[in-house]
Amino acid sequence: MKTIKEASLNNKIVVVRFDYNVPIKNGTILDTTRIEKSLKTLNYILDRASKVVILSHLGRIETEEDKKDKSLKPVCDYLSKLIKRDIAFCDYNNPVEVINNNKIIMMENTRFFDVDNKKESKSDEELSKFFASFGDIFINDAFGTAHRDNASNVGISKFLPSYNGFLIEEEVNNLDKLVKNVKRPYTVIIGGAKVSDKIKVINNLIEKVDHLLIGGGMVYTFLKAKGFNIGKSICEEEYVPIVKEVLNKYEDKIVLIKDNYVQDKVLKNIEDMNNDDIGYDIGPKTIESYKEIIDNSNTIFFNGAMGVFEEGYEYGTKELLNILNNNKGIVVTGGGDTINAINKYLKDNNFIISTGGGASLEYLEGKELPGVFL
Ligand code: AMP
Repeated sequence: MKTIKEASLNNKIVVVRFDYNVPIKNGTILDTTRIEKSLKTLNYILDRASKVVILSHLGRIETEEDKKDKSLKPVCDYLSKLIKRDIAFCDYNNPVEVINNNKIIMMENTRFFDVDNKKESKSDEELSKFFASFGDIFINDAFGTAHRDNASNVGISKFLPSYNGFLIEEEVNNLDKLVKNVKRPYTVIIGGAKVSDKIKVINNLIEKVDHLLIGGGMVYTFLKAKGFNIGKSICEEEYVPIVKEVLNKYEDKIVLIKDNYVQDKVLKNIEDMNNDDIGYDIGPKTIESYKEIIDNSNTIFFNGAMGVFEEGYEYGTKELLNILNNNKGIVVTGGGDTINAINKYLKDNNFIISTGGGASLEYLEGKELPGVFL
């Protein structure tokens, strides 16, 4: 990986891409983790470079209307307070002048250019050149966007000497513990709502892991494939044949659930489900069987909630987090909902938490991330 330490930044204008795609409501930033995570790279640049120009996207932009509450200005104000320095905010009207007259500059949301033929998201060459014209050297530290080829992270790198920042380096090194020389037994726990989102990851990871524990909403497609009555639980019928194949091939590695909480929080064994039951959370027998495997594992990756924790079905997710936190090995987690559940139930923990959901899963799948420069 080409890292920032190899770059000579002295007296250069550095363009840096962060992932400041943070939740904002009525101008207030609800979670600032991603901003704090950018400080190491930002301070390193500020100590060396003559100027820094910051790029980031925020949310999805399709129409002029979408721009209204998607300005990066609140991020600019927060960051300025955090580093106790002035930051000039630039809406692209006169970038040359703004850059010439200031030391730290934050450009407006790069996805504002998506209104014009999705130029940012499609990595348009002219837009990439425009971003590159802001400086002499490019640092990408937006791990959460590293699986996407956009103008402001990958397109721009074709026109400037380009390196990765400290966050990308840290995230990739953490995930490498699960990709290279993994300390076994290696257990992956996958939950969440949809099989379709994660079946590719499951297919790729299953070869590498010792145990795959499946919970959450997606387990019902697996249970159906095994012939259980799952009642009205969430199920992706079209995936049943694919799941059947995976189950046949890797029966010894895959662990499904034994019991679950259905509607009205009634606890039921899986074989006792009837046609009207809807499974919302995993039960204590399942937790017990998970615990035995987890306690014997040295490396664990966890993604996806075990139940509908947002609506009172939090037992399984909470219990699982506590078991994981007592593990002596390496526990890596990632993804928006998972981080949300961790912040809710176990803020104080020993986990390695990845800021990027999609990016970390694609990396574990074995894909090269275009935003990680080699
Ligand atoms: P994901 O974004 O794929 O990690 O999915 C997380 C979501 O899965 C959470 O919002 C949970 O509410 C949902 N989920 C977990 N268990 C179930 C379940 N048994 N039925 C429906 N949704 C579930």
